[in-house]
Amino acid sequence: MTAFTVVNPATEQPLTDVELASVEQTDALIERAHEAFPAWRAVAPGERAALLRRFAGVVDAHIEELAEIEVRNAGHTWGNATWEAGNVRDCLNYYSAAPERLFGRQIPVPGGVDITFHEPLGVVGVIAPWNFPMPIMAWGMAPALAAGNTVVLKPAELTPLTAMRIGELALEAGLPEGVLTVVPGKGSVVGQRFVTHPLVRKVCFTGSTSVGKGVMAGCAEQVKRCTLELGGKSANVVFADADLAAAAAAAPYAVFDNAGQDCCARSRILVERPAYDEFLGLLEPAVKGMAVLDPSDKGSQMGPLISQAQKDVVQGYVDEVDVAFTGPAPDGPGFWVPPTVVLADSTEQRIWREEVFGPVVAVLPFDDEADAVAMANDTDYGLSGSIFTGDVGKALRVARGVQAGNLSVNSHSAVRYWTPFGGYKQSGLGRELGPDAPNAFTEEKNVFIAH
Ligand code: NAP
Ligand code: MG
Repeated sequence: MTAFTVVNPATEQPLTDVELASVEQTDALIERAHEAFPAWRAVAPGERAALLRRFAGVVDAHIEELAEIEVRNAGHTWGNATWEAGNVRDCLNYYSAAPERLFGRQIPVPGGVDITFHEPLGVVGVIAPWNFPMPIMAWGMAPALAAGNTVVLKPAELTPLTAMRIGELALEAGLPEGVLTVVPGKGSVVGQRFVTHPLVRKVCFTGSTSVGKGVMAGCAEQVKRCTLELGGKSANVVFADADLAAAAAAAPYAVFDNAGQDCCARSRILVERPAYDEFLGLLEPAVKGMAVLDPSDKGSQMGPLISQAQKDVVQGYVDEVDVAFTGPAPDGPGFWVPPTVVLADSTEQRIWREEVFGPVVAVLPFDDEADAVAMANDTDYGLSGSIFTGDVGKALRVARGVQAGNLSVNSHSAVRYWTPFGGYKQSGLGRELGPDAPNAFTEEKNVFIAH
């Protein structure tokens, strides 16, 4: 048994040691989840719904505690951490309606009656990253449980604490042992075992594109279902006819929220050429005015990066370009990088093409609508994006033209549990959330009965 020392990224002080599961321990927990499956799928729909609502209620009673853990473990601001804990509650409540609505269909066929059933898969493995530990846990866990699956969840090594607490709260709410199991451990050990263990019937992976490709290849060995939520290099497209003050005021939070460690970060800003200078003039005070403070300060709008390793990666990108201007950042301990704005020289630069996963945004002008769509699409990724314009027709044309799963007009909408979320191209495979998510954790069975 090895242990990992969890560190507060704002202070670099150790918080606690967490024991990392071995392959043997992982196997035992997967087997326990498999044993819990028949009884869980047999729980009557209304009763499973009630248990999920009770779980939501227990989470709701612990929002402050969960937020406080995340502020210390992940360096998230109070506002974000509170929203994230509330998102766990909301996902559980939303999907608590699913067990009683897991409808099949009656399909007209000659010679008999045809009906379909949505049947749970068995054990579902969720592999979560460190950037949004609570929401990403909930997006996999809530619809999977609602559809009658049992869940094993591996939090990121750096951020296991909220997941471990939520696992305890599930038991407190009355979920039977083995229905939700949090397995702290290394990706190369526990995560990899979810991929290779034959009793895990689906893997929901969120993380980097490179690790995601390996997960998908591993799942192929057993034709195992997988959902991938990967990286992004999303565009924030600002047309000259937009409310420029509103666009500039919103732009920092679209990329610097969570210190830029957000797969949906709008890390490329495209500005229509006639508005370029005015937009930058408005953006500069907005960035300089950000409150980048220790996240335990409730006034903080941006915290530190998760680790020294992540800071080194981000600094490597910043060191090879000319920085136009930055916002503030504290001195002293903590993995701080200030919000940083770069005026790109070309679309070939690494800063324009690669996901930085830190508080760095690159800006380039564009000439017209067609140019904006072409530039937005000139990337291997396709997760999200924003369009600022006063012309609703243009907004719709561009939204339809950009190859990305999640677009917002005159806003930078966060992920909403009511609506489907996922990526085009190398940003991912499959969709999470929205009304259809429980079906993605089922097999659709067709039964024909001859007259
Ligand atoms: P990562 O290295 O891909 O890790 C993600 C998760 O996978 C962690 O739990 C990790 O465990 C685990 N893992 C690592 N190697 C594995 C393997 N061989 N088999 C199975 N699991 C394995 O990514 P990260 O560095 O934590 O997070 C940053 C990246 O995630 C960014 O590139 C970002 O774009 C992406 N991301 C995407 C989304 C989205 O929704 N599209 C959301 C969040 C993050 P350990 O913790 O032990 O390494
Ligand atoms: Mg990693």
